[in-house]
Amino acid sequence: MKKYEAMVLSCIDPRFQAKVFNHLKRKKLTGKYSSFTIAGAAIGVTHKKFKKWHSTFWDNLETSIKLHKISKLIVLNHKDCGAAKIANKKKQFNSLIENKIHKESFINLKKKLKKKHPNLKVSLKLYQCRLILNFLIF
Ligand SMILES: [Zn+2]
Repeated sequence: MKKYEAMVLSCIDPRFQAKVFNHLKRKKLTGKYSSFTIAGAAIGVTHKKFKKWHSTFWDNLETSIKLHKISKLIVLNHKDCGAAKIANKKKQFNSLIENKIHKESFINLKKKLKKKHPNLKVSLKLYQCRLILNFLIF
């Protein structure tokens, strides 16, 4: 069976789709990855607000590891994310609070990956939607 590179975990946000595609194209990954698209990306698969979604992600990741022989999970979160707003428990919401929610989702996801799939490589990126057209790496 053919071996593929990665699974890409990204958000459902319509503004984000072409950016994800172009980013992966620049990385020469077109046709080499499976996709798991869910509101909030790493937030959606780790935050307790979206608990029902978590097992679906892990099942799909496991399926892609088996079927596509992927060796990496590429996680692309983005700023101004509606899921970060839903996950936020405080009355207040701003860029710093949002950054914290993204960062926590990355830490949680990394922790769970280490337990479930210790051999899988992972890259975590937070896409700056409006301000800078670049990626911030944690
Ligand atoms: Zn989003």
